[in-house]
Amino acid sequence: MPCLHCTPSDATLNRLPFTRTDWLASDSHEGVGFSRCLGCEDRWLNFWVEIFDDQWLYWSPMTPEDEARLRAEKDSYKVYEIARSIVRNHKVVCKGPVRGIEWVSGSHALLEGPPW
Ligand SMILES: [Zn+2]
Repeated sequence: MPCLHCTPSDATLNRLPFTRTDWLASDSHEGVGFSRCLGCEDRWLNFWVEIFDDQWLYWSPMTPEDEARLRAEKDSYKVYEIARSIVRNHKVVCKGPVRGIEWVSGSHALLEGPPW
């Protein structure tokens, strides 16, 4: 069950309520991994993308089936696609270069940079 640490709130977060990330796939422009909520230990999906030298990091709720699907995928570009689709469908924690750490709607998240 989500706890107060990982429940969407309008307040800007002071610090991230998650453990360090265990990275599954990453390259110079994006990455996917997993961490846990420090309060309830629920597992969260991490996704980061670099857009014009700025880094945007996201923490999204996910299901155990989402994690199994990501871990089973061997093509890292497909891993990124699956991660984007999960982020788009949730309210997620975002750490961006301008507004700090906040909850955002995944459907409005910046998830892709220029075509590299
Ligand atoms: Zn929690």
